[in-house]
Order: sequence, then C-alpha cells, then structure tokens
Amino acid sequence: MRRNESELDKMRKAGKVVAEMHEATRAAAKPGVTTLELDTVARGVLERRGATSNFLGYHGFPAVICTSPNAMIVHGIPGGYVLLEGDILSIDCGAIVEGYHGDAAFTMGIGEISAEAQKLLAVTERSLWAGIDQLTRGNALHEVGRAVQEVAEAAGFSVVREYVGHAIGTAMHEQPQVPNYWPGNRGPTLKTGHVFAIEPMVNAGTAETRQLDDGWSVVTADGRLSAHFEHTIAVTAEGPEVFTLA
Ligand code: MG
Ligand code: MG
Repeated sequence: MRRNESELDKMRKAGKVVAEMHEATRAAAKPGVTTLELDTVARGVLERRGATSNFLGYHGFPAVICTSPNAMIVHGIPGGYVLLEGDILSIDCGAIVEGYHGDAAFTMGIGEISAEAQKLLAVTERSLWAGIDQLTRGNALHEVGRAVQEVAEAAGFSVVREYVGHAIGTAMHEQPQVPNYWPGNRGPTLKTGHVFAIEPMVNAGTAETRQLDDGWSVVTADGRLSAHFEHTIAVTAEGPEVFTLA
C-alpha cells in the first residue's frame, strides 16, 4: 500500500520513538543486567513519548521488545537472562504513534566480543544497508534480498529463510513480505510511498533454525551465533528514507 505524506509523517514520528528505544536499551545493556530490565527501559521511552507498543500482546507476546542473545536469532522474550561479557544481544523494538507503526532492531556486543562476533555484526549491518540501497522507485522489491544475500554469503555467513522483512503501516506486519535472499522472481515494483521493514537475520553457521518450547524464541540449529539488524524505510522520490535512525 502507498502512504501519503501525512501518513509518512506519522511513521516518521513512530520511527523516532523506536530509535530512542534503541538508544536507551543500548546504553542500559551491560554485563549483569537482565533482559527484563531492558524491557522496562524501553517501556519508559514509550510512556514518555505517549506511544504504544505493537509488540506487547502481539499473538500474546508479553513484552515491548524482543531480546535474543548469542545463538538466538529473533523473538526472544525478555526475562531473567543475565547479560555476560562477550555476549552478543539482538534487541528488536517497535512503537505505534497515531495509529502508525515503526519497527527496528540491532545487535550489539556486551563488553569485549570475539573477532568472529564482531565480523558477524558488521556484515549483518552492512547487508541491511545494501538492502536499503535497493529501495528506489522503479526497482524490484526482491532486489533487496539479492543484495542482502550477496553481502552475507560473500563473508561466509548464511541468511535465515523462515523469517523475513515486511511492509509496514497501520499494522506492523503488512503484505508483501521481503525475503532476505533471492526468491527466484523480481516481486512487486517499488513506488513512492511504499514503506518496508527490512531485517536481515544472518547466521555464522548454517541457515537452519529451531523454535524453543516457549513458542517464541528462534535459535540457530547448529548453536552458532546469529545477528539481526532492521530499519523501517520509505521509498521516496529522493530515494530511501530511513525512519528509525536516531
Ligand atoms: Mg522488528
Ligand atoms: Mg519487523
């Protein structure tokens, strides 16, 4: 669906709240802190900004952020997990302002992290930006996945298939989906006013995933590290506009 300028303005506002949730949770994520404490920090941002959560209550999800450490790919539930020096942690945040949604994620190191972990974070974030660069009017949507996949696989990593990006607007997850790999066809043609959440999930080992018994947490099947970066971006006449940057 194409969004008009007044809708895009609301999405810009939602994106700013998400960016602020990123800044606050990033600053709070240190060795000894629990992931539940990070959820509390993010709730504080939503309250201060008069925004509501699109994560809380989503199919029964109990928190306003997802926290996914180490081999966890996405959808981790904040709880008693205590962050350790050397962990990597993915934090996925969302907000609703005036009925419009923002959604963005990042992965960070807790203290000093391994060289492989540093490379995984850098490559995954670079793959996100390679995907964002494809969000230009007249281009084909699935060029996003092609670009993401090229960056991730050139580094020797693999791209998760089962979880993908999505259009976003008055709901967090709208159609069409945005694969992080080349799906064998070009997909829809991009037009101004289209808004997407692009979100590569990149594994250090194989692409295989497994869901834990909590019904949410998705982990790598081989137990190796995974990273996740996401932004909400509009296709504009001037090129891609990222709403969820600080
Ligand atoms: Mg997200
Ligand atoms: Mg998303």
